[in-house]
Amino acid sequence: MMKTLSVIGSTGSIGVQTLQVAEERGYRVGGLAAGKNGRALEEQILRFRPRIAALFDEAEGRALKARLDGVCDTGILWGREGVCRVAAMQEADMTLNAAVGIAGLAPTVAALTAGKPLALANKESLVCAGALVCRLAREKGVPILPVDSEHNAIFQCLQSGKGEEIERILLTASGGPFFGKTADEIENMGPEQALRHPSWSMGAKITVDSATMMNKGFEMIEAMYLFGVQPRQIQVLIHRESIVHSLVEFRDGSVLAQLSPPDMRLPIQYAVDYPHRMPSARQRLDLTKAAALRFYPPDETTFPAMSLCREVMERGGTLGAAVNGANEAAVAAFLAKKIPFGRITPLVCKAAHAVRWLPEPTLEEIYETDRLARAAVNLE
Ligand code: NDP
Repeated sequence: MMKTLSVIGSTGSIGVQTLQVAEERGYRVGGLAAGKNGRALEEQILRFRPRIAALFDEAEGRALKARLDGVCDTGILWGREGVCRVAAMQEADMTLNAAVGIAGLAPTVAALTAGKPLALANKESLVCAGALVCRLAREKGVPILPVDSEHNAIFQCLQSGKGEEIERILLTASGGPFFGKTADEIENMGPEQALRHPSWSMGAKITVDSATMMNKGFEMIEAMYLFGVQPRQIQVLIHRESIVHSLVEFRDGSVLAQLSPPDMRLPIQYAVDYPHRMPSARQRLDLTKAAALRFYPPDETTFPAMSLCREVMERGGTLGAAVNGANEAAVAAFLAKKIPFGRITPLVCKAAHAVRWLPEPTLEEIYETDRLARAAVNLE
């Protein structure tokens, strides 16, 4: 079946793999959007010839437009509005959002408002505004198809069971590069060590989030909103082999899991092919060669980010946006070598709690919370 996709965050790790899947499938790419990497977007435009493309950065967007003038017919846009126009473009059958950070929230809202099925990699949309985003999807009657490998696994398991039949969601985690280390050992680690992920090659921000376990905390929040479960129904299991991507325990005691070698193109293709399951060239799992599959409880004392995210799940409101905004600022400071690894989570916790909490925020209040939380980190 021929489909037209609009891809937001197309120049990043997930974006590039999405375009590879689209090419394998023969899907048309109708729209592309990225942050500021005009050169990478230009190459993608010349390859996929979308009808429109956007860069968030206005100066880079204008420069790209000038370079492509007379070279191809793609309409070049910029700014948040330009990115949102790509996310909501009329001819797309589906929007895949792989922008990083709260920058992904506006295209998520734009795609859903336009009634587009949304393949969502940008978990920060749900961390910051899960209640609002899920309400919008329900009102518009459009699905949110999870691209995150764990949530995609759960979504696949749920094809053989209903939401109300779920007893527990068992979310697996690789444990990141610092699994098994003590707080003292990781206190002064720098970006070189944190960016060395054992099983996945991803963008820098999510790789650091995996090292602090904030990523797993965000995924608990994401699961709560996507699958409509209570916080106590979500359990995290460390699984170093990254073969079992998550499991669902149903109320009769049956546990279903999704297994495959770690390759993000598999959840991406499941989401973009949905509701069909198509043949693919992905590497097959050979269980006779896979080492033993082991599972451990997470160490929430050394990695307190997960406890902070549990508080977000319990309290809701603006706390998710505050934690996310503070985390984006703290991770940026860590990547710029301004703070050591051990400072990230305490700083996020303090800054997020310094911002006034609102129970049922509007989109504007979510953005304001994000701004205040970033400022609280930068004041430290
Ligand atoms: P990358 O850092 O590799 O890529 C981020 C993408 O977002 C780039 O294309 C970047 O453009 C774009 N971008 C940045 N700002 C904006 C903006 N304002 N508007 C539009 N696009 C923007 O990140 P990843 O691909 O690793 O992750 C993307 C999302 O997917 C994250 O939310 C992450 O948590 C999630 N995810 C990623 C996984 C992975 O394996 N990588 C796995 C599961 C989830 P530019 O290049 O121009 O800066």
